[in-house]
Amino acid sequence: MISKRSDGYHEYCGCIHIHTTDSDGTKPLEEVADIASATGLDFILVTDHMTLKARREGKEGFYKNTLVLIGYEHNDKEDCNHYLLFNTEDVLSPELSPQEYVAEGKRQGGLGIIAHPDEIRPRLGKYPSYPWLAWDAEGFDGLEIWNQMSEWMENLKPYNKLKMVFSPRKFMRSPTDRILQKWDDLNQKRKVAGLGAIDVHGYPYRAGPIRITIFPYKVQFRSLRTHVLIPEPLSRDLETAKRQVYDAIRDCRLFVSNYRWGDASGFEFRGLGTNEEVISGESLEFSPDTILAVKIPERGGIRMVVNGRTVSMTEGKSLDFKATEPGLYRVEVYKGERGWIFSNHIRVGV
Ligand SMILES: [Zn+2]
Ligand SMILES: [Zn+2]
Repeated sequence: MISKRSDGYHEYCGCIHIHTTDSDGTKPLEEVADIASATGLDFILVTDHMTLKARREGKEGFYKNTLVLIGYEHNDKEDCNHYLLFNTEDVLSPELSPQEYVAEGKRQGGLGIIAHPDEIRPRLGKYPSYPWLAWDAEGFDGLEIWNQMSEWMENLKPYNKLKMVFSPRKFMRSPTDRILQKWDDLNQKRKVAGLGAIDVHGYPYRAGPIRITIFPYKVQFRSLRTHVLIPEPLSRDLETAKRQVYDAIRDCRLFVSNYRWGDASGFEFRGLGTNEEVISGESLEFSPDTILAVKIPERGGIRMVVNGRTVSMTEGKSLDFKATEPGLYRVEVYKGERGWIFSNHIRVGV
């Protein structure tokens, strides 16, 4: 947690998309919360398949310094179109179509995030894919631009299986171009948050005679993280804290990082106009003096992206980029070839 950054926000770092023994995860919620807290996470968003049992049992709240919020993962009748839903009254009907559960979640004031939209491996086989196909659905708040499980599965090949199993985090590269482009396109119409998700289950895995857990919770909590920016410190009151985190996601006041390449806490992306200063999720007027300012905690390769096009690449700890055109600006930071930090958009003159 970084309290009061130089942009005036309080930063909280968490992990999203977590399964427990309430569905196909391998550890009970209390144990997962303990691991999150020992790893130093400020919050986790738990999402078991089609159940809110733990929330009904009053298990949301602070576990030491970690806020545990409970939503669930909805799927359609074909087990496709997985959707993370928070703050709904209950689990929605399994009979609904994706368009219907997205709309109903919205109607109930829920927060909805499209899960692993980008899985392209075959639907049939040992590890089927669960892509998002219902792009005409209206009312989702965000999507996972980077899902650790999808990326790992897509890269899993017979010749690298053992390496992949023993060092799962080493193989993480970055969000795919396909999904980044989709996300940029969606944002042309309206604000859609881009999140990082771990989709952790802690599956046991057999590799010949060896049985190990791939992606133990502890390891996953040290990989893809979502950092939210909140104007006031996170409340210790559950309902208030919940609103603070959900609003930050809905408003795109967030960035994604891969902790394996370094702690990205303190990353800043600001839009500086003549009389105003904004962060991601916000808009400002376009003028030739508008600056997009980036600061990162350690050196990295900084790329400025406008409407999906990379317009500047530099190596260092900061970048002041003069806006060249109205559009959607976002930042990617790399450590070598590996994606480290992905901001959400600042809207300049649009
Ligand atoms: Zn899923
Ligand atoms: Zn899942």
